[in-house]
Amino acid sequence: MTRMTPLIERNERFARTYTPLPLGPAAAQVVIVTCLDHRIDPAITLGLRLGDAPVIRNAGGRVTPAVIDDIAYLGFLAGQLFGDQAADDLFEVAVVHHTQCGTGFLADPGYRHRAAEATGLPETALEAAAVADPYTTVRADVGRLLAAPSLSPKVSVSGHVYDIATGRLTTVLDARYPQPAVSN
Ligand SMILES: [Zn+2]
Repeated sequence: MTRMTPLIERNERFARTYTPLPLGPAAAQVVIVTCLDHRIDPAITLGLRLGDAPVIRNAGGRVTPAVIDDIAYLGFLAGQLFGDQAADDLFEVAVVHHTQCGTGFLADPGYRHRAAEATGLPETALEAAAVADPYTTVRADVGRLLAAPSLSPKVSVSGHVYDIATGRLTTVLDARYPQPAVSN
């Protein structure tokens, strides 16, 4: 017996009626970037089914360099999978931050200092991860992703906040494409 035992039993029930999907474009043509918080699983809150959407999760749902790298690769992969079907549009990245985020504690300098000492992580990295006001951080992260040089011009980005109290998702920024680089 491990703590995984009940979950493995659920998997056994799942596998009984399972039908495998071929590798292909995600059905919803959306990539979700969101927090790893177990209260906001997008499969449940957004009704995602198998094959609908890749989901990238980290503490806060922040657009980190690792997230930007993953999206750059997904853009390349989607181009390969779509072939010529998608001339100007591969997918939309939906950045979803949420209220009551556990990273919000990191906005407090004393808490952040203790977290840095306990984990060995730099205080600046912890400060950058904090989601104290999701409406502010989601705007910042949509901007960061749109400014990333590796982002395909065929990928759009939108920003949303999920409210833990109501279960409701609010769109803060509608989907937009990166601005073409200005050459002098
Ligand atoms: Zn969170």
